[in-house]
Amino acid sequence: MAKPDVSHLPYESSFVPEILTEDHRIKFACHPGVSCFNACCKQADVMLAPYDVLRLKQHLKMTSDEFLKQYTVPWEIDGDGIVGVKLKTNEDKHCLLMNDKGCSVYNDRPSACRYYPFGLMGVKHSEATTDEQNYFRIEEEHCKGHEKENFLPETKEITLGEYRKTQGVEEFDKYNLDWIRLMLKKKSAGPSVGAPSTESLQVLFMATYDLDRFKRFIQSTNFQAVYDLDSKTFEEIQNDDIALLKFGYRFLRQVLFGEKTIELKNDAVTKRAEERKEYWKARHDAEMEYANLNDPRYDPKVMGDEVMGDNKLAEKAEAAKKEQEK
Ligand code: SF4
Ligand code: SF4
Repeated sequence: MAKPDVSHLPYESSFVPEILTEDHRIKFACHPGVSCFNACCKQADVMLAPYDVLRLKQHLKMTSDEFLKQYTVPWEIDGDGIVGVKLKTNEDKHCLLMNDKGCSVYNDRPSACRYYPFGLMGVKHSEATTDEQNYFRIEEEHCKGHEKENFLPETKEITLGEYRKTQGVEEFDKYNLDWIRLMLKKKSAGPSVGAPSTESLQVLFMATYDLDRFKRFIQSTNFQAVYDLDSKTFEEIQNDDIALLKFGYRFLRQVLFGEKTIELKNDAVTKRAEERKEYWKARHDAEMEYANLNDPRYDPKVMGDEVMGDNKLAEKAEAAKKEQEK
């Protein structure tokens, strides 16, 4: 069996290296009566996917940047510079969202907490063009949910697919899978795409995790001057975070992989590429000086030509110019 690509999983996870499918049968009980109740939240190592952040910031009535600053820490997803976030803990490793009664955000808890002690992984076999959705198991000393004495009379053996339903995780996977696919695609593209620049890593972070900032970016004259967005889509992404997240994935496929997902305003592209580059470079440099977080990849304020340059903007501008000259 192919070795799973687990590079997008937290480095510290005690995952068991075997691929599980939806049919895998499990017997597991987690309820307030288990001897280890909340032990997992007291040793929290929870990676957040973009939809997790969306749900948590809505639950806490915060903006994405407020939430990210208050409740998360950065971690490098794959050793290649792509930055994700984990839930912040206190000095005892307790999750900041835990209170005396348990999880304070239970209805909107992240997908990793729902899955635990299992997890989702995207697998892309080298010969395949599509990815698969598989699962893994986490084995940690503190979790006693597999032990018979913690079973309730109603605890039955079920499939992993059924377990996912009981945890309400399907909706999370629905909106996070495109993000996993972006990671897998970036990984499998390898040298043909090249190592992403700091600016594209910042945009990747903004368009997936920092959605309120991404929304401001879409409203900016800088974005409007380059992308030809119809008014219906524009309205949708201003009023609906899920539509905004989906648009973020679309935008990233264009920025990172050159897929034509959003129409460009060719005149504007030409004009910008020729006239504004220095201005935005200077502005970007100034903004970097004032980044709120130390890691520059966390500064998603880059809205200039450098980012779009990753998507061969200059080539597009050149092509548009030639078209005009005909
Ligand atoms: S978010 Fe909730 S379930 Fe997840 S680690 Fe924190 S307290 Fe526990
Ligand atoms: S059984 Fe496992 S998941 Fe449930 S509270 Fe205990 S440690 Fe956490």
